[in-house]
Amino acid sequence: MTMAGIVMGVIIGGVLRNLEPSPDVVRYVGFPGELFMNMLKAMVLPLIAASIVSGLSQLDGKTSGRLGSRAVMYYVITTTHAVILGIIVVSIIHPGDPTIKQKMGLEEGETANVPAAQKFLDLFRNAFPENILRATFSQVQTSYINRVNSNGTRRLVPVTGYINGMNVLGVIVFCIVMGLVISKIGAEAKPLANLFHALDVVITRMVMIIMWLGPIGIPSLIAQKMLEVTDLWATGRMLGWFVFTVVLGLAIQALITLPLIYFVGTRQNPYKFLRGLGQAIMTALGTSSSAASLPVTFRCLNKLGIDPRVTKFVLPVGAMVNMDGTALYEATASIFIAQMNGLDLSIGQIVTVSITATLASIGAASIPSAGLVTLLIVLTALGLPANDVSLIFAVDWFLGRLRTSVNIIGDALGCGFVHYSCEDYLKEDAE
Ligand code: ASP
Repeated sequence: MTMAGIVMGVIIGGVLRNLEPSPDVVRYVGFPGELFMNMLKAMVLPLIAASIVSGLSQLDGKTSGRLGSRAVMYYVITTTHAVILGIIVVSIIHPGDPTIKQKMGLEEGETANVPAAQKFLDLFRNAFPENILRATFSQVQTSYINRVNSNGTRRLVPVTGYINGMNVLGVIVFCIVMGLVISKIGAEAKPLANLFHALDVVITRMVMIIMWLGPIGIPSLIAQKMLEVTDLWATGRMLGWFVFTVVLGLAIQALITLPLIYFVGTRQNPYKFLRGLGQAIMTALGTSSSAASLPVTFRCLNKLGIDPRVTKFVLPVGAMVNMDGTALYEATASIFIAQMNGLDLSIGQIVTVSITATLASIGAASIPSAGLVTLLIVLTALGLPANDVSLIFAVDWFLGRLRTSVNIIGDALGCGFVHYSCEDYLKEDAE
């Protein structure tokens, strides 16, 4: 039903585009999608908290450690590969040249001014929030303000403030520690473990109800986006090679590399697994957010028979930090922008891209276009103008959906990887 809905969404969007609907009509078209997205997002906080705490409190410390280390190993291998692949495809295809920038009429801008190191520290500031309730709706962000000194001179100083949006990283870290402590304490903390377990069961059932709205919500989101995009063909022509490069890289990562790593680690058929993820992939295409797709990904993994003790712990963490699609995109887009500025990158700069693209993917929130925002980290490190991000803005609505799908494919295969490679430990733990 969702698949048929997506086709309908594209047709409705395509037909209505010709009628040039007013902005009000565009909002009406997207209204069911807006509600669907809200419902999914509302599930994210209770789902993450309940699943991590109940998952970890069921495991003994040793097993959690093993699952965790396998997951981290998988994240490191796949993210590193995504970044290297991105660098290779963009260097071979070389989609960027300075005339594109001229044609798009972008003024020379300033270099981005928040140093990558500060952004990196923000990651840790968010991981350890000072107030866990506040972390459920706002996150830390450092910015620079102009301060006037006593002698009248001005200087830029960093200030740490809050911006809207759930600090998922902080919530995850808090819940991981809580789950581990509950399991360590044992009988005395059992009521708390039961509470989170019950919450998990209830939220999972609520997600099942919401999923019935997918075949209406997802096409509505897609049709709305198609109506909002202006100059589809003009930007398509100019950025066509860039889009092709990213799509090719993402396709290789999702259809060859990840399945291969999964197969090597588990000896299971990865394509059978991918087929079972259909609904989650479609939700990612529709919502462009791995957080909003999280409830659906959970459901798909349960149906695929992945041990809930693995999914509950590994999936939310993966959705937050493991973003293969975004990592590949950060590398490709930053080198594309460098090419448009007529810059040939040295080996040192390529190493810089690899490191910062990895950090930028870890730091990106699981919400639409987050990767575009954290691209600034890579551009800053390369000394490129911050407002060059606007050059690729026109195609981000499309590429953002694709990279989100690759992100969730990576997270889901990661759960499968941990499940099959820790089967013995899990059996032992259950006994
Ligand atoms: N939207 C992506 C996600 O949720 C992040 C990104 O923009 O790259 O996974």
